Amino acid sequence: MQLLDGKALSTQIKGEIKEQVDKWMANGGKKPHLAAILVGHDGASETYVASKIKSCEQVGFTSTLIRLDAQITEAELLKEVENLNNNSDVDGFIVQLPLPKHISENTIMEAVLPSKDVDGFHPINVGRMCKGLPAYLSATPFGILEMLQRAKIETSGKHCVVIGRSQIVGLPMSILMQRNTNPGNCTVTICHSKTQNLKEVCQSADILIVALGRPEFVTTDYVKEGAVVIDVGITRVADASKKSGFAIKGDVKFDEVAPKSSYITPVPGGIGLMTICGLLTNTFKATRKEIYS
Ligand code: NAP
Repeated sequence: MQLLDGKALSTQIKGEIKEQVDKWMANGGKKPHLAAILVGHDGASETYVASKIKSCEQVGFTSTLIRLDAQITEAELLKEVENLNNNSDVDGFIVQLPLPKHISENTIMEAVLPSKDVDGFHPINVGRMCKGLPAYLSATPFGILEMLQRAKIETSGKHCVVIGRSQIVGLPMSILMQRNTNPGNCTVTICHSKTQNLKEVCQSADILIVALGRPEFVTTDYVKEGAVVIDVGITRVADASKKSGFAIKGDVKFDEVAPKSSYITPVPGGIGLMTICGLLTNTFKATRKEIYS
């Protein structure tokens, strides 16, 4: 079994981005600028946004955090989005999900200019991705592709099973894994809560990508000997032994699945860190106007 170490890999990638940014700026390029809107005070969202801001500093980007009250109306949030769309210094921005229930996430995602949509959630970016055109790829699937590629994991002709069909992880992941690219060229099965015989489907996976948000759901009996196991799940589970009062758990029961797999990602220290690399890469592409001129 080989551990796919997101911590080491993300440190390496951030170093590479920093080098490229330094070179870009030495040649007169604009300093990349990522903005984030955070609505409310959800503990996990606070952690993710703080980590994104810290990563911006590490690679030499400017970052702006806009904090908004959880009671903000959809119209007021749309106004903030419009302000960032019109701010020529901001190259790309994200609206941290989840949003409070009274705000439509789809409406907000569609209001972000596609050229600044560095999370890759706007229908234009999703559509361009489906057609194989240049697009901002959704940051988590992008990070997973980067990890598979750098670990030189063969994907062509393999059976890839994705558990979860969310717009931000499962669905784009399934599309990317079947594309005629490397990584890609998989035969893909996408599973969800209505899937029957989930365990049997997973047992035939050469590559199992798990994103359902249920801690330690995937046990050893779901996994074929020698499979590649990518755990996207991040859930806070109460743990009195921790200072914070919680532990972070993935969707895979790591200790029992790891010995059976050829490669596996840990949680924490796996895909979460790769997601940030995807976001930084998209932002630098936005600064350089690589996708939309
Ligand atoms: P989501 O929107 O809640 O979607 C969960 C998906 O899992 C849905 O498609 C759901 O099916 C499916 N599902 C739920 N229970 C199932 C079951 N028993 N059997 C089979 N499928 C089941 O979740 P998400 O946003 O994709 O996030 C998933 C996990 O990844 C969460 O733990 C989240 O925190 C984590 N995450 C991590 C990162 C990262 O950077 N590492 C990024 C994003 C999310 P239905 O469609 O039928 O409801």
